[in-house]
Amino acid sequence: KAPVIAVDGPGGAGKGTITQMLARELGWHLLDSGALYRLTALAATRQGVALDDEPALVRVAAGLDVAFEPGEAGEPVRVLLDGIDVTTEIRTESCGNNASRVAVMQPVRDALLQRQRDFRQAPGLVADGRDMGTVVFPEAPVKIFLTASAEERARRRFNQLKDAGADVSMQDLLDEIRARDERDMNRAAAPLKPADDAQVIDSTGLSIKEVFDRCMAAAGQ
Ligand code: C5P
Repeated sequence: KAPVIAVDGPGGAGKGTITQMLARELGWHLLDSGALYRLTALAATRQGVALDDEPALVRVAAGLDVAFEPGEAGEPVRVLLDGIDVTTEIRTESCGNNASRVAVMQPVRDALLQRQRDFRQAPGLVADGRDMGTVVFPEAPVKIFLTASAEERARRRFNQLKDAGADVSMQDLLDEIRARDERDMNRAAAPLKPADDAQVIDSTGLSIKEVFDRCMAAAGQ
């Protein structure tokens, strides 16, 4: 089986950036599992499915028509839902929050499991999520748990949004991050926690380059 580097951790710890860099450096495939939960939430909203209608959400998750297309050099991966580019839409705070609401449902997680495992193809896979090392790829040879303080994650998000011209308050972002952490860590279904054999990397105060180098070292590369 192709090797897997599982990268888990809370939202905003830099997993997206780091896993894209790792995949590009190694020439491996990339799984953005959070995008699948975001897409489930988005598709449900579009189909008029309520976010507490579990059986309908399972059907939405199982039937997702998704494609990930490599972006131009330096650009993020493009995400298509039913053939239409939704890359920006799935990145909003509200889509992230809705994703974390559907992600508490075990049957929804089950419906997305095989789709995630199918990404494991030669020459290898870098998998970004919350339960890559604990549930989806428990036998992954390399597991990294990438974290950062809530304040640092709020600050990074604030800077990103400010650059994009959005008018947001630091306190609101911090509250949202804490609420999402709470929900991700305290849910019964695949709660966010490092796998027993994960290497924990705290990116608080580190540059992207420093985090990347530590992850490469953790991956034995
Ligand atoms: O990583 P991202 O912010 O895109 O994930 C959105 C939400 O999807 C997370 O807050 C989490 O609740 C859920 N998720 C999950 N398991 C994963 C990836 C994401 O439960 N493997």
